[in-house]
Parts: sequence; structure tokens; C-alpha cells
Amino acid sequence: MRRPKSAAVSPAADLQARLRAAYPDARCALDHTDPFQLVVATILSAQCTDARVNLTTPALFARFPDAAALASARQAEVEALVRSTGFYRNKAKALIGLGQALLARHGGRVPSDPAELAALPGVGQKTANVVLANAFGVPALAVDTHIFRVARRLGLSKAPTPEKVEADLCRTFPREDWIELHHQLIFHGRRTCDARRPDCAVCPLWDLCPAGQGKIKDPHLGVKLAVDRSQPPGFSPRASDLGPQAAGGPRRIVSLVPSVTELLVQWGLAARLVGRTRYCIEPKWIRNTVPMVGGTKDPDLDRIRDLAPELVILEKDENPKSAAEALTALGIPWLALEVRTLKGAAAELRRLGLAVGAAEAGEARAAALEARLKGRRRKGPRTLALIWKDPWMSAGPDTYLGDLVRTAGLAPIGPDGYPVLEEATLEALAPQVVLLPTEPYRFNRRHAAELQRRFPEATVHLVDGQALTWYLSRTEEGLDLLSGLT
Ligand code: SF4
Repeated sequence: MRRPKSAAVSPAADLQARLRAAYPDARCALDHTDPFQLVVATILSAQCTDARVNLTTPALFARFPDAAALASARQAEVEALVRSTGFYRNKAKALIGLGQALLARHGGRVPSDPAELAALPGVGQKTANVVLANAFGVPALAVDTHIFRVARRLGLSKAPTPEKVEADLCRTFPREDWIELHHQLIFHGRRTCDARRPDCAVCPLWDLCPAGQGKIKDPHLGVKLAVDRSQPPGFSPRASDLGPQAAGGPRRIVSLVPSVTELLVQWGLAARLVGRTRYCIEPKWIRNTVPMVGGTKDPDLDRIRDLAPELVILEKDENPKSAAEALTALGIPWLALEVRTLKGAAAELRRLGLAVGAAEAGEARAAALEARLKGRRRKGPRTLALIWKDPWMSAGPDTYLGDLVRTAGLAPIGPDGYPVLEEATLEALAPQVVLLPTEPYRFNRRHAAELQRRFPEATVHLVDGQALTWYLSRTEEGLDLLSGLT
């Protein structure tokens, strides 16, 4: 849908107006209360996400509230506090040097003179511009990786370096708008004009963008972008577009749990998934349609924040507690499931169904699972479920896999949890059945033969790992598989 052009509005002003409308919340993403905190946070943000920095700085500022405290800090203590931001030795050294320089040259205050600011340890021209703009309101337009990419795609500059792109932008836009524009272009780069997958189909700047319209090759990717504008700009699916399961509940969901991602698709909620981890790979087509937000243990919190989810789904064993804490700090709602037994799986199916607006689907699946849990179970052969090699590790009787084994009529053995098994412990277990799931470790026939030689009396099964470990979406499949072995 092409917007009508007005002779009175320049393309630059038009672009600014649209950015203002699209990103009214654009602002500095680093938490700070004064210039000192902003300089420190900006130094820490090198090669690190803003969200990670925001998790780090509260403890750092509590211990070192000003330049004087930082000037006399011990290197090891600062290193420990900033470790999670990466390059922590250099950053700790720069922060202590910063404190000392502020104390010696500026009475402990952060200067507002560009040259004096840029001369401080750890503060280059780009950091100085960020601080000048956000702490002192001095017009500056520091070009970071997002602005560099977006400006060149939009045809605002053809320059090959950030410094030259900055000069082009400063020539094009009024000085009083530079600070606002800086934040808006970063937000646009993060939320819409992604480096690898720009969302041109919904971009509010599309008809101003030569790369998005395919008039030029994308200067970032080096190819012409293929864009489907069959939906009007600003389109996002309405609840009524999403099918019967989607009448309520969150419209934008990020799943950090592979099996839950698959389950949401099974429940007809694929259109609501806006983020997934790199391990959320089923069904396969989801890899091309839902953006990735890091791994299960190290989710990319900046990326998640930029996706503006209404709900993030986690699982207590699968994802670290720190991820939930970070989401709380970012004000993003989350739901942490806990699946350690099949009875628990039924309860979590109901809880998840309610949380995502698919209560009926959750109830139906939970009731069907509970029906299979009824009745007495015979005590079957002693079964060892291995999950790793070098070192050997097993899934104990108190785990989800242990309960799956038990429910299928086998007797899970071994220590509780996911213990490392010494050779002697493994021998002493003397299993009658050995299960070798194909994930998380890629057990294969060679491993099966090795275990068979070790336990000649036992039956060794190489089994589908997803069926045994993808709780909720494949619990029934796992039960069928194991029941077939007894
Ligand atoms: S149309 Fe595409 S390439 Fe152009 S600014 Fe929008 S998202 Fe980026």
C-alpha cells in the first residue's frame, strides 16, 4: 500500500514522523541515573547486550557509587562484578582508570566537553557521543551497527564507514532531532530491520526504502531482498485470524522450551510464536518462520525484549533461573513450567493451556494422559536410561524420563537426578534393560554394541530421543515406544 506523497513534507520529515509513530518508546536502553553511571554502563556495553549490562550494573553501583569509590577499587573485585559482560579484565581496568582520571582531572565529575570526555580511559568518540547525548542533551548521532545498516538500506547514505554515515545523517536531519533519531533508528534496526531477516513486509518505511522495494541490492546482505507486501504495512494477525484456539491469551509468545514450541504449533498457535531458541526445531518449517532468540541456557535477552512478547515460556530444568530473573527485570511476563512426572505433565498441560488461551486443548490432552496413568503397574525389568557418554550419565527414577519408564511397566534404576556414573557404579547397576536415546547424546549402533558387550545378559535398545525427552508434545509417543519394549 503506497502512501500518498505530500509536496509540503520532505522525505526526511516523512521518515521521522513514521519512526516517531512506530517507536514512541525509543530511548537509551542502558539503565542509569546520572552521567557517571551512563559512562560506566556504556563502557560495559561493548560486545555485550544492553539487557546483560542492566543486570550487572545495580550490584556494581551499589559497591562503587561514584568515581572516588571506583578509583580505589581492587581490580579483582571489579572483575568479579563485571565478569558476565565479557572482556571483564579490560573492562575492569578501564573502569578503575576512569574513576582515577575523573578524580584527578575533573573533581570526580563527568565532563560535558566532547574532547575531555573522549580522552577518558575506555571512552572513545562513539561512547563520548552516547554520553553527551543522553546525559547532557548535546545533539549527537553516534552510528552503531544498527544505524549503519538501516541508513544504508534506506538510501540515507552510501558511505562505507560509520563516521561517514554519521556525517551524511547529520547533513540530512535537523540538529535538534539527532538524539531522538539515534534511538529511533536503533529501535527500528532491532525490531524490524533485522540484519539477516529484515521484516520488510510490515515495515512502516517500506515505500521510502530502496533496498526494501528491491530497487537496489541490500548493502548489508549483498542481495536483492524478496518482499511479500500482500499484507498492508503495520499488518499483524488479529485473534480472529488465528483459528479457534486463539480467541484469548497472549498474542506474542516466545518459547524457550523446544517441546513446548512444538506443542504450541500442535495447538494451532504457530502464528502467535514470535521467538524460539535454536533448539526449537520441530516442526522443521518453524526454523524459517520464527526468529531465534539464542539457546535454552543462554537466551538473547535483548532480542527477546525487542520482540515485545506478551508471554515467555520457560521450564525449570531446561532454562536457568537467571533467565526468569532477567525477564522480571525487563518487565516481561513469563511462565515457568516444571515437568518431572507424568502426573505433573498433565497438570502443566492444563496450566499452559490456560496461560496461552488454549484451555480446551490443554484439558483434552491432560485428561487423555491421566486416563493412561490409571491402574496398577507390574514391576518390570531393571532399566537403565543413559543420557550421556564420556562421562556416562543416566536419568534417575525421580526424573521425567524415569517416570516415563516406570509408567510403561519397566523399573527405572540408578541414582536420582542426572548423575555421572563412574565405571564401577555402572557395572554394579547390572541392568536387565539399557535404553540409549538418540538425544541429548547422539547414541548410535556402535554405542549399543559396546553396551551389549558390557552387559551380555541385558537387552539394549537404541530409541528415539525426542519421543523420550520431549515432554508434553511427545509424552504419549514416549509411552507408546516404551510400552512396546515390555
Ligand atoms: S523496508 Fe526492509 S530493508 Fe527497508 S527499512 Fe524496512 S525493514 Fe529495513
